[in-house]
Amino acid sequence: MSVDTIYKYLFLDGTNYNPVKHDEVLQKPKKHSTHKELNMLGLPLIYDTKTVLNYLQVIIAAKKSQPTPDQSGFYVYTGAMTASGKTVYGGNHEKGVGKQDTITHGEEAVIARALDDYGINDQISTIGFLRKTGIGLVPRHCGSCRDAILKYDPSKIKVFGASEEGGYVIVVPFSKYLKEDFDETDEFKKFSPAEIKQGLAGIKIASYRGISQDTMLEEKMCSVA
Ligand SMILES: [Zn+2]
Repeated sequence: MSVDTIYKYLFLDGTNYNPVKHDEVLQKPKKHSTHKELNMLGLPLIYDTKTVLNYLQVIIAAKKSQPTPDQSGFYVYTGAMTASGKTVYGGNHEKGVGKQDTITHGEEAVIARALDDYGINDQISTIGFLRKTGIGLVPRHCGSCRDAILKYDPSKIKVFGASEEGGYVIVVPFSKYLKEDFDETDEFKKFSPAEIKQGLAGIKIASYRGISQDTMLEEKMCSVA
């Protein structure tokens, strides 16, 4: 990887990332936001070279993945780095068109790959997704993948999305995905008992178990089950 490649990306600390507040700013060309402005938005640049190089390696790993999204057509190029600095990659795979009999998401692919290649004691600490074009949006994991990532210590995992064209990369802690800023959690609270019962068969509701941080909601779900 060359210095040129590094400077194609600006890695930002997304601890305070807020889609409503930041997405519009991040879609602007680079020249429209100064470092000072980004700092004021609560998205300071990550200056540590070693950290930046690690994130870049995750992007390079993600580029090696070969998704086969036969059903959705949505390519998820996924890379990851373990705590000791080893990289792995894996795309999403959707075989059995029309039957939905095997589906693997990008997150699951890299978790399995890291376990196979480096074992349970060297767990993933960073997950990155690569888009072909456009801006590198902060990822929105599905409930199933959030559950899979929860097998790790959420306080140690970081995630990001990057575009192959370069630009801003916002690195956010996975713990961000376990907070109340998930629209779906609010939406779920509005469901009627009948809907909850019906939905319990589905993976969506199962994925809220243990991560809603709402004891009453958890009890309600368990009593229906
Ligand atoms: Zn998923």
